[in-house]
Amino acid sequence: MASGSAIRGTRVGSGPMSLAERGQPAPRHRVHYWCANGHETEAAFSAEVLEPETWDCPRCGLPAGQDREHPPDRQRTEPYKTHLAYVKERRSDAEGELILAEALARLRQRRAG
Ligand SMILES: [Zn+2]
Repeated sequence: MASGSAIRGTRVGSGPMSLAERGQPAPRHRVHYWCANGHETEAAFSAEVLEPETWDCPRCGLPAGQDREHPPDRQRTEPYKTHLAYVKERRSDAEGELILAEALARLRQRRAG
């Protein structure tokens, strides 16, 4: 009985210490991403971090997804970018100043009236 309790005692005392002494790296999970050009990218994330659905391909900059058969379509992003550029074009600096001037004029009218 005496030897049994001794073993139990060492287990409790040395358990956490031996783990630290081993110096195990933080648990990680590796995620593979594929872009529309077929480039494979392996990214490692620590266990507590949830990997993003898409990852920018370091080779060509295209968005890469975890589904090798269905990588994110590069054509899907183009209309959005074009639309964004279109919106930016419409809202030129001159037009922005005009809108600001109108708003200021309205404010002054309200104060005057
Ligand atoms: Zn790529």
